[in-house]
Amino acid sequence: MTPLQSSLSHPVLAPLNVPERLLLGPGPSNVHPTVLQAMNTPPLGHLDPAFLALMDEIQVLLRYVWQTKNPLTLAVSGTGTAAMEATLANVIEPGDGVVVGVSGYFGNRLVDMAGRYGAEVHTLTRPWGQVFSLSELRTAVETHRPQVLALVHAETSTGARQPLDGVGDLCREFGCLLLVDTVTSLGGVPIHLDDWGVDLAYSCSQKGLACPPGASPFTLSPRAWEKLQQRQTKVANWYLDMNLLSQYWGPERVYHHTAPINMYYALREALRLIAEEGIEQCWRRHQQNADYLWQELEALGLSLHVQREYRLPTLTTVRIPEGVDGKAVAKRLLLEQSIEIGNGLGELAGKVWRIGLMGFNSRPESVDRLISALKTLV
Ligand SMILES: *Cc1c(COP(=O)(O)O)cnc(C)c1O
Repeated sequence: MTPLQSSLSHPVLAPLNVPERLLLGPGPSNVHPTVLQAMNTPPLGHLDPAFLALMDEIQVLLRYVWQTKNPLTLAVSGTGTAAMEATLANVIEPGDGVVVGVSGYFGNRLVDMAGRYGAEVHTLTRPWGQVFSLSELRTAVETHRPQVLALVHAETSTGARQPLDGVGDLCREFGCLLLVDTVTSLGGVPIHLDDWGVDLAYSCSQKGLACPPGASPFTLSPRAWEKLQQRQTKVANWYLDMNLLSQYWGPERVYHHTAPINMYYALREALRLIAEEGIEQCWRRHQQNADYLWQELEALGLSLHVQREYRLPTLTTVRIPEGVDGKAVAKRLLLEQSIEIGNGLGELAGKVWRIGLMGFNSRPESVDRLISALKTLV
């Protein structure tokens, strides 16, 4: 006999009540109020002409913020990791050679993922916080003759910015595709995908774009599209197969999966706000506020982990002073001052704090609040 009443307890909770935080960690960052408001709009159907027009706008805006003409530029349903997986899943065939530059946590994630798609992965390593020189990259490409060279433009675990000048030409010389992680650079650090000759790139919504997580920028060049068309095997991930997704984003409008409608509202508004400010001005603002943060941190006697030339304006790694319990400071900042910063990861665990100034949070007021809070704690 089935019991009429569930033996499970009946949870009765208070309505949602979330504390207000200043999110100055490695992401998510605070969402622009206009973006939050846009999310509050009722969902449309995912094939409604008004919604399809909004998708077209997202594509136009993404090409602008990335500075690319790639026709296949869209938002992947999921966080940055889904878009990362989409780049690898679509161009790697079992046995393909992939060279990955690893000088932080996210380089390692690319290695793991590429291997799962059957790539023969060669890693190029450097201590966390450093970057690869063009000649090092040339040697690796000459030695391994890979199908794909994958680099992290903005390594969020270290705060280092990988220079990309000349890398695209190198990849063309050896007939390989250039794949770049722009998760912590899009919207905050100058990116010129086409001028740099980048073939595959991805990002997320919750860092430089000042949007919640959930819809992630993805783009693929005509060269990468050609490799996708020449595959002997199906893309091993149905959800992220660009042959299928491009038919929803393109003129055919073939159903693939239900788009996260309200996330697209948010992304559209976030990108519109960047275009309204102007992408160059947005980059300039991020650099100016980062300069201010660095000056104030140094005035407190703290030292920064990455050499100035390669420092990311969106994410700063600060060395934890001798004798200070870094995790305890970060915890007190959160609980007493409602400011989130990040702890170190991997090689830098216990050695640095990670401070993000991304999107809406890239303002002098964020720096002032953090610095005065830090003064009371360090
Ligand atoms: C945050 C981040 C990712 C992963 O993005 P999620 O949105 O967390 O899935 C990938 N690469 C870099 C460099 C990142 O900073």
